[in-house]
Amino acid sequence: MIKDNVIKVRRRIEAVCSKLDKAPDSITIVGVSKNRAVEQIKELAAANISDVGENKVQEAVVKHNELMTYDLRLRTLKWHMVGHLQTNKVREAVKIFDLIQSVDSFYLAAEINKQACRINKIQDILIEVNTSQEAAKFGFKPDEVIGAVKQIVTLDNVDIKGLMTVAPVVDNPEQSRQFFKLLRELSEQINTLRITPYTLNILSMGMTDDFEIAIEEGSNMVRLGRVLFETGIKNK
Ligand SMILES: *Cc1c(COP(=O)(O)O)cnc(C)c1O
Repeated sequence: MIKDNVIKVRRRIEAVCSKLDKAPDSITIVGVSKNRAVEQIKELAAANISDVGENKVQEAVVKHNELMTYDLRLRTLKWHMVGHLQTNKVREAVKIFDLIQSVDSFYLAAEINKQACRINKIQDILIEVNTSQEAAKFGFKPDEVIGAVKQIVTLDNVDIKGLMTVAPVVDNPEQSRQFFKLLRELSEQINTLRITPYTLNILSMGMTDDFEIAIEEGSNMVRLGRVLFETGIKNK
């Protein structure tokens, strides 16, 4: 089932990419495995998904540690933190996550820097942007992003790889296009103004209901949960 879902999603990504003249393998699929069992992550890996996303540190640690006892494919999965990260969980988080996508304050970035330094790691991160400016959502406001990047880039043990956003829940995914576009423009602005000494390459945007539109607006990392793990989700 998961395997078939992955095949269908890959076909959909290929279809959008061919319209855009983009290589389908330039889009990273992060299988968001929160609330899913280790067995399901194994199925994902068997279908050649190499990146998994979790939104709770404790749950991720348990799954990560179990998967580390299996074969090479499972041991080399890349782990993404996609949920809000509390500072008291950072110490555990830096041990297992390859990419922390949800950096939403300088305070959090500074703690990641400190804990990464302790274990001699450069922690890759994304800056989360609240592009739709919903009150209940985490992330920097669009007009705070450049200032935040300027500050965070001074931290030696974090590398900013790009930006991430979660689009609002809408009836028609077209309504989210503006938010994806905004994230892409912010990233282009940071790169043009050379706010960071390196280019930001990752744009993490697009989920089950809107990933094709996100790719059209420049996403190169889609975070997919339901469409991979469930049946009965529109997927063709
Ligand atoms: C759950 C989650 C996803 C996946 O959502 P689906 O709609 O199931 O694809 C992606 N990103 C974040 C931050 C999430 O929490």
